[in-house]
Amino acid sequence: MIGRNWRCEDRRCTLYDTRRGTAALLPRVVGGVPRCQNHGGPLIDDGPRTATVQLKLLVDGALRARFTLEDGSTVKVGREPGDGGIALVGLIPEQRTAGLSRTHVELRVTGGIVHVRDRSTYGTHWRSTAGRSGPGPWHKLGAEERQYRGGDELQLAEAVVLARSGRRFPMELAQEWQRRRSSPPDAAGETRMY
Ligand SMILES: [Zn+2]
Repeated sequence: MIGRNWRCEDRRCTLYDTRRGTAALLPRVVGGVPRCQNHGGPLIDDGPRTATVQLKLLVDGALRARFTLEDGSTVKVGREPGDGGIALVGLIPEQRTAGLSRTHVELRVTGGIVHVRDRSTYGTHWRSTAGRSGPGPWHKLGAEERQYRGGDELQLAEAVVLARSGRRFPMELAQEWQRRRSSPPDAAGETRMY
């Protein structure tokens, strides 16, 4: 079920849509049939879920570009990382390239989970923005590969930030789903994931 895209009979409904809206709900199965939580109707199988993750490049807080990573790929991001990499030269103003390495970070996407490794000369910082009290403090990304979760931001150089959009991989949705199932549901019984 997690490996499929689902959509509501109601075309305006984006509750389960992985391409529109800000969240994608995992369908609830009632009597063996996945149903829309709002409209009650059976959900339509909309083909296999393509495992992609979206990244946003923010410069001085403004969106400059979006990138998509495919599952099973390893991608270098930096000033000029070379073939197959995501080159930021030309996307950020000259004065913001100070401290940005040719290959700054390496992103590895496997089994629906994204990992990041620092490959830079001057270092990379990360923070989570998914907390209830807003963005957390910046931490130095160590030499070890670490998980790059939805809502995490990577600061490559001053005011140059790579952000993971709220969209998540099916695997991560599954992890979240399992976590939430083990805690009591809120009043509305919502399982919406941002
Ligand atoms: Zn619906």
